Amino acid sequence: MRVTASAPSLVALPQSPLTDRPLPASTAHSGAAPRETSQEQTVAPADGDYSDYRVVPARHAARWLGSAVSVLLLLALAQSVLGNPRWGWPVFAEWFFSEPVLVGLGRTLLLTALGALLGFSLGALLAAARVSRSPLLASLAWAYIWLFRSIPLLVLLLILNNLGYLYETVWLGIPYTQLTFFSYPTTQLISPFMAAVLGLSLNQAAFSAEIIRSGVLSVDQGQWEAAAALGLPRRRQALRIVLPQAMRTIVPTAFNDLIALAKGTANVYILALPELFYTIQVIYRRNLEVVPLLMVATVWYLIILTVLSLVQSQVERRYARGALRQLPKTWWQTLRPGRHRLSAPTAPAAAAPGPRAAASAWQSRAGGGEVRVHGVSKSFGHHKVLDDVSLTVPAGSVTVIIGPSGSGKSTLLRSINHLERVDAGTIAIDGELIGYRKKGQTLYELKEKDILRRRVDVGMVFQQFNLFPHLSVLENLVEAPVAVRGAAPAEARALALELLARVGLSDKADAYPRQLSGGQQQRVAIARALALKPKVLLFDEPTSALDPELVGEVLDVIKELARSGTTLIVVTHEIGFAREVADHLVFMEQGRLLEQGAPERLLSAPQHARTREFLAKVL
Ligand code: ADP
Ligand code: MG
Repeated sequence: MRVTASAPSLVALPQSPLTDRPLPASTAHSGAAPRETSQEQTVAPADGDYSDYRVVPARHAARWLGSAVSVLLLLALAQSVLGNPRWGWPVFAEWFFSEPVLVGLGRTLLLTALGALLGFSLGALLAAARVSRSPLLASLAWAYIWLFRSIPLLVLLLILNNLGYLYETVWLGIPYTQLTFFSYPTTQLISPFMAAVLGLSLNQAAFSAEIIRSGVLSVDQGQWEAAAALGLPRRRQALRIVLPQAMRTIVPTAFNDLIALAKGTANVYILALPELFYTIQVIYRRNLEVVPLLMVATVWYLIILTVLSLVQSQVERRYARGALRQLPKTWWQTLRPGRHRLSAPTAPAAAAPGPRAAASAWQSRAGGGEVRVHGVSKSFGHHKVLDDVSLTVPAGSVTVIIGPSGSGKSTLLRSINHLERVDAGTIAIDGELIGYRKKGQTLYELKEKDILRRRVDVGMVFQQFNLFPHLSVLENLVEAPVAVRGAAPAEARALALELLARVGLSDKADAYPRQLSGGQQQRVAIARALALKPKVLLFDEPTSALDPELVGEVLDVIKELARSGTTLIVVTHEIGFAREVADHLVFMEQGRLLEQGAPERLLSAPQHARTREFLAKVL
């Protein structure tokens, strides 16, 4: 009997190493089975194992033609440059490694390095000031950037070089007192080299501040919120969570700028500072070999640029971790395209234990907190989103909140976690007010630092997971316990691994979030929230972003938690889940708690017409 399998039944279509796309069926077949007759070539092996097949890459005639034309053009160009005696290559060779040129090159590199170092450091401070909540700092930073981006670099350099004319001495002390720590004649302090470093750095800072700020703006707000919800201090939120992700946007433009700076150092010729370009000018004015000497400078600049570009691609790879499912190829990997493999390199990993399989020391620790929401109101502009909401959630209970979209459910959860500040009313967890310190009859508003510290008692799981994509699964879990609770890293890792086992993801500890399915990501997010051992865990539509078949695995994890004693407040549209797990069901509409009670009662006999209407739609 002859089996004629059509293309889709070929389980592992060989791929073109250049495009990563499956080859057209015909090419695949002709390459896949060279030892068979043409009629049998469409037969797939019964066990689906293609490992002893040979793969022949597809032929790309147009690509070959294009490459040949390019090579021809390059050859013609090389011939015209090398064959024309007026380029003066012997003179070029004579000067390329000559001492004055190398000294000039050294100065150019030093100026670039100092300008970059000082410029980016000052730029980082300026960017931080620009996004800070202090209006004064923000305006000062804005004014600096406005000023130094407006002044042409040449003008700035000349002004700095003439600073001695404006101010005869430079001194450091306390103004309007006799106290002086240090005083120096300006002309001695601001040498041309100093003026060059200052000018390049001040100019560079203005531009790099905006580059860094643009990177920070490019990071999703959910990342700040997730970091805040874990109680990470603001500095750590910025340095550990946001900045590494911002780097993906910052690096390409920053290197662009760095390259401009390296070339921009040529501007300091105006100060008669013998860097590379000035040195070259001095030489060709003497020997009149203009073009060969300009080529000396050009080739050195080309070399600097090439080195910077190679460094850039490495730095970009470094920050691509986690942002891409697969790291981009390094330049040497692109030179050696890997062979497509038909058989799996290793045996498939053993199946992970199910969510319920792992027994847990964590479970014995659990103890929920009581949440009291009292008379809470919140408006956005004229829109009243929460209207006198009061709700008591006993310790260790499960409360499910349902209601139409826009009814204020998320805002209520975010207020409980103090991601949102309420206009009126109070929220307390185990008697401790959120956002305030109570002393006698007075409430002291807490600083952000203290709010963050208290926030670790309330975990939050978001609809969009908000895992930190640049950290591995394990690092996501370990981050807050170490940074906020001061846990020893080894202990935090042990707990993290235990939690991962609990949500059935032991084998994913080293994966990056984007390498996981939505349901797996959400289970990691739950484990991350649990790692802080919160008293209360808030879920904001934890399954809404998931494909239907993944909803169950996340709900299973939450169900298991429900029995562990942590207080759970869950916003969801999964009515079946509410019926089975909730102790208390709340229906919200237009910022009000319209109706609440035992799920059985509320679902079978809703009192309110609006509740009936809503349930009719979702049930
Ligand atoms: P739900 O989660 O029930 O769908 P939300 O709490 O997200 O509702 O939002 C309630 C209402 O508040 C919506 O009308 C929404 O548009 C509005 N809202 C939420 N956040 C903001 C905000 N930051 N600024 C202005 N309006 C907002
Ligand atoms: Mg919502």
